[in-house]
Amino acid sequence: MRAKRDRSVRTARMKQATHGLEEILCCPACKGDMELRAPVLTPAGRVKSGIFFCPRCREVAGTLTNFKYDFLFFDKAACEAKLRDRKGQAAQVLPYEVREETLAFDDPRLQMRGAWERWEERYQLSQGQPGDALMFRGEFLDASVRLLKHPWSGVARFSVDGKVVSEVDLYQPRWSEIYWFPIANDLHPGPHTVEIAATGRKNERSAGAQVFFHELVLTCPARDGEPIAGPAPEINRALPLFPVLIELMKQVPAKGRILECGGGDRWLQDSRYVNIDCQRYQLPTVWGDVLKLPFRDDSFDLVFSQALLEHVPDPFAAVQEMCRVTKPNGLLWSGMAFLQPLHAAPSHYFNASLWGIQELFKHTEIIETSWFGDLSFTIDWLFKSAGITEQLERQEYEDLMGRIRALDRLVSHEALREVASGVAVLARKPERGKASGG
Ligand SMILES: [Zn+2]
Repeated sequence: MRAKRDRSVRTARMKQATHGLEEILCCPACKGDMELRAPVLTPAGRVKSGIFFCPRCREVAGTLTNFKYDFLFFDKAACEAKLRDRKGQAAQVLPYEVREETLAFDDPRLQMRGAWERWEERYQLSQGQPGDALMFRGEFLDASVRLLKHPWSGVARFSVDGKVVSEVDLYQPRWSEIYWFPIANDLHPGPHTVEIAATGRKNERSAGAQVFFHELVLTCPARDGEPIAGPAPEINRALPLFPVLIELMKQVPAKGRILECGGGDRWLQDSRYVNIDCQRYQLPTVWGDVLKLPFRDDSFDLVFSQALLEHVPDPFAAVQEMCRVTKPNGLLWSGMAFLQPLHAAPSHYFNASLWGIQELFKHTEIIETSWFGDLSFTIDWLFKSAGITEQLERQEYEDLMGRIRALDRLVSHEALREVASGVAVLARKPERGKASGG
């Protein structure tokens, strides 16, 4: 009797701790029930990690890795090997609660070897001398790092406890952007050393072998009185949410659920909100494919996507899938590119006109369509993509754009529909049994 009650208490705690997401998760391939095997729990019953096994597909479907649901990047062979080991299937309970800790580029706990210099008060920069390394020693279970990719970057090497775990090529041909790289997960409790080192090697197209370090993210023991939740503040490194979305989110009940597809590197301090993305950003709740959502039918009160559908090879299937996981009478909102130049290539496939986005949603009840983006915004983007800005003096370009911006007042909102940057739709999922066209 007692054992039974204890177990139900633990189950309740687990649900609370993971926002009840496991109630709506399913196998992304067959949509059947999955089993969470080899779970790693905190003393309070929070499930930190585990392996999702689909009995119907008879294979590993994904993982829970340090409180993140991963249906894309997990190492299937490693998971299968772990499950074959009977010991690996028993629940492991950690000796302490955990919390996330971020060590910025100037954190005094970082040890440096070789020639690192501070750069723009945001980075530690190595010119790529082999032997240049940043180290941290302390108690942690997981480690990841945020590094800059740009045209002068080289290859960096990650080591844990003296063993090389991986290398990353930080070269990218244009512009610069900070990327997140996982280094290690679910290490044994106890002190560890993590090292990020320059190798001196580089992509043949790179102009240098630099390593720009921004921050180290660790999962550490939570000492008494410290918060144990994930990253406490909201972090948004993606596009700002459209005001209409903030309004729609306010209408979702406190115990409701909100799904953003392709939310990018965004974390909202809202237990109703789930962000699924197919890029390995740091902040999504779930890494997965919008064409194979790992959620049961009718799970969410609001499902939305911002600047996603032009990046999906089959936008019709993506909208069907978004609609499948929406509750009957639940709302869907999507905004996508109309007159936008190529971006995020090669995953930029289909822009849509207002009539195009209505076709995508024709099996739903469309409440409203809209369009956005001033003409000058579109022209500015076209000019930048065409490489014009790089060939003009900055002032010359600013003067030109100033004159073009002055023309925006001549374009009525109705006229903008013909030349808008993007189009959007607000729709309702029809109740079951209702005829819905398409
Ligand atoms: Zn399955």
